[in-house]
Amino acid sequence: MTNNVLPKSLYPKYDAFMECDKSSEDARIILFGAPFDSTTSYRPGARFGSAAIRRESYGIESYSPYQNKDLIDCPVLDCGDLELSMGDTEKVLAQIEAYTDEILQADKIPFLLGGEHLVTLGAFRAVHRKYPEVVIVHLDAHGDLRDDYLGVKLSHACVIRRCWEVMYDGVKRDKVMCDDASLDKVMGGEVAYDKVMHEKVGRGDGSVSANDLRIFQYGIRSGAREEFVWGKSHVSTQFYNLDGLAELANRLKGKQVYLTVDLDVLDPSVFPGTGTPEPGGISFEELRKGLTLICQKMAVVGCDVNELCPPYDSSGISTVAACKVVREMLLAF
Ligand code: MN
Ligand code: MN
Repeated sequence: MTNNVLPKSLYPKYDAFMECDKSSEDARIILFGAPFDSTTSYRPGARFGSAAIRRESYGIESYSPYQNKDLIDCPVLDCGDLELSMGDTEKVLAQIEAYTDEILQADKIPFLLGGEHLVTLGAFRAVHRKYPEVVIVHLDAHGDLRDDYLGVKLSHACVIRRCWEVMYDGVKRDKVMCDDASLDKVMGGEVAYDKVMHEKVGRGDGSVSANDLRIFQYGIRSGAREEFVWGKSHVSTQFYNLDGLAELANRLKGKQVYLTVDLDVLDPSVFPGTGTPEPGGISFEELRKGLTLICQKMAVVGCDVNELCPPYDSSGISTVAACKVVREMLLAF
């Protein structure tokens, strides 16, 4: 009797991130792409990021000597890129949200490949609905805390501010006005951020106290002055590097985490292929170690990797770096 189902060895491999072709029953993590970059403010092209990561993943090994693990053994299914309604940002976010929602309803972990950073908002809305207590760990060169960018609220430059609103909607309101003198303390770079935060405790003006912090940023080295003023009393920001991440992992033990990785947190010498490159970033090793720590120690319930912009990756090294980031994260789960 003949069986007209093709053996798995004959599947077109290039359709998925390498070895991420497990059955939907077995898969615990669902990879999917959101090829969207309509709000990119500087150099467009991140919409090609997810496809490039998938394609170029075959250039690296599925085995990681760092972790002594292989993607062959990992329960991951890559479902490909979403078909998005380009030109209608709110609709695109709703589409990402609906898809993420379905993954969560199946009790699996959504792993989103951008696209520009705004795609995070769609996924996070769904994750937050399922896990209202979720906190965000955000790696980026940019704070992404603007209230608007040139009058646009749904912009990649505002994405973490929008996520904050999702978290604190109806709970906290943004009323605080910080004075510039205290901002200078933060911008000095040497002041421990938590120390500054503690000064805000008990103000009763709607600002978030240190104990209520639910967004933890790392690697930040660029933003408008207003972002840092606002951020000082609403998020925890580690400037320039990933210092303190191990302590955070201990502190957040057992807490549900949404992890968002804007790849421009890497130095442009390592990762030139991105829309808004920002010199002074972290090394690949620092990022790899940080991500492994987060994915191993924290209860990551959703994540994304974004802002690879292949048209500006003339050497191809940025795409390879992105592939390796994705591999190490998948293996660390
Ligand atoms: Mn960025
Ligand atoms: Mn960003």
